[in-house]
Amino acid sequence: FAKGPDAQRIFDDIHRQFQLSPETLVELTGAFLDEFKVGLGNYNHPMAMIPSFVTGVPNGTETGTFLALDLGGTNMRVCEVVLKGDTTFTLRQQKYKVSDALKTGEASVLFDYLADSVDAFLTSHPPSDQPQGHGDPFSQPDPDVVHLGLTFSFPVEQTALGSGKILTWTKGFSAKHAIGNDVVKLLQDAFDRKHMHVKCVALVNDTVGALLSRAYTAGGCVLGAIFGTGTNGAYVEEVANITKLGNDPAAARGGLMVVNTEWGAFNNTRSHLPSTPFDNGLDRLSINPRFQAFEKMISGMYLGEITRNVLLSLIDAAPKALLFGGKTTAALNAQWGFDTSVMSGIEEAWEGADTKKGTGENPIPQFSAYDDAKALDPAVKARLERVRAVLVKELAYKAEDVSLRDAAIVRWATSLVARRAALLSGVAVATVLIQTGRAVFPGKGGKPSKNEPKIGVGVDGSLIQFYPHFEDTLRESLRHVVGAEVEKRVDIGMAKDGSGVGAALCALQAIKQL
Ligand code: ADP
Repeated sequence: FAKGPDAQRIFDDIHRQFQLSPETLVELTGAFLDEFKVGLGNYNHPMAMIPSFVTGVPNGTETGTFLALDLGGTNMRVCEVVLKGDTTFTLRQQKYKVSDALKTGEASVLFDYLADSVDAFLTSHPPSDQPQGHGDPFSQPDPDVVHLGLTFSFPVEQTALGSGKILTWTKGFSAKHAIGNDVVKLLQDAFDRKHMHVKCVALVNDTVGALLSRAYTAGGCVLGAIFGTGTNGAYVEEVANITKLGNDPAAARGGLMVVNTEWGAFNNTRSHLPSTPFDNGLDRLSINPRFQAFEKMISGMYLGEITRNVLLSLIDAAPKALLFGGKTTAALNAQWGFDTSVMSGIEEAWEGADTKKGTGENPIPQFSAYDDAKALDPAVKARLERVRAVLVKELAYKAEDVSLRDAAIVRWATSLVARRAALLSGVAVATVLIQTGRAVFPGKGGKPSKNEPKIGVGVDGSLIQFYPHFEDTLRESLRHVVGAEVEKRVDIGMAKDGSGVGAALCALQAIKQL
């Protein structure tokens, strides 16, 4: 087994490649702000800054019953949402699997499947008896028709609340004959082919949905952000800043509009993002090399794969293996074989039930210290034994193949990758705070133009919900960029059922305009 200075140098080198200094975080924020500006003025920029045509955020008094369909995550969901008008709602939902064959086959087959799923939902969940709009005649143009909001979490060029062209696929989708078509029409055509009384009236991105639903339940919100399979954010912008709207009537009306940033595409050229060989390996084998550079360092779909690449480099290290005695398992050998949820499990095992309030810090390891199990602090030993149990269970190693040193190395690698993701996530949030006048760029001087006691941020996604310390580390990054005073006022809360409730709120806005 390799030990000594050479092995340590390899660990130190990997450790160094994943660090982000406060200066780098500020520099990345500057580059992020520049891309925001270009995207707000230009329709062909990777940071798409898509106008949503949602011109206000709810305040919790909205009412109505709507269907919502959510496509873009790991599962497809159909739900019925009842908005009660007192910041609360009820929701009934059913999840449906979207197979790889559907994701990558013909678009019409995919949309037929979506329509079939809605049909199946309506059969198994007869409509709730609450009237749409609770007696508001404008919200009920045709009582026989069920109104549906579509949450579609891919880049779309939106032209109205209820229409938008698909720009590109992300997150493992690549269905043929979809790009360039109106996604609402693709879905409506599928409903019509089946003679269903369902009308899709609103198209909403999951980030916009998170923003709207958090605003509904919390009485206000400035940013909706997703940290799940992918990452993205939507925020409330002044229409005057969305210069690419040009002669669109929305531009003349002025006021505010929600913008879907598509920030997963930040710095696709990687001129600022410090890529490692592990990131490059992931990118090269992904279905969209050179795209979604930021997302590939942050989101659930990718963190496990980056970590797997780090672990494989240690397993394969020459002249002697540095991990698992050079042994791999089928899970570790397979692309995407190491899921981000396993990383969460490793961190939870390391922390234990009573140390949940750790700092999220990950010091440079001296792994030779772990070689003599007898000399280990019993508390550290207990933690490593828990990590070992996770590795044995999740990666299918035999217990005797995983030393406590191996457990320590995997925990360290996991935390390196996740910590970088959370720090980068903070950069995206900081960018929105500066862009909207709630913070100033470091060193620029001046004062923020807005000083609310609470800055609402609605979030969704397994990563921010479940990953230990993800939010703490995101906040650490925010403090570096916008300072502790602003960071303290940032109120991060789960946008509960954001895509369903957001789609319902958007459908309500749409039928009021019908
Ligand atoms: P989606 O974004 O697809 O709607 P999620 O927010 O659940 O759904 O995100 C799914 C992603 O989160 C997957 O990539 C998965 O690897 C990751 N994930 C699932 N559970 C956890 C967990 N406990 N901790 C961290 N990541 C998780």
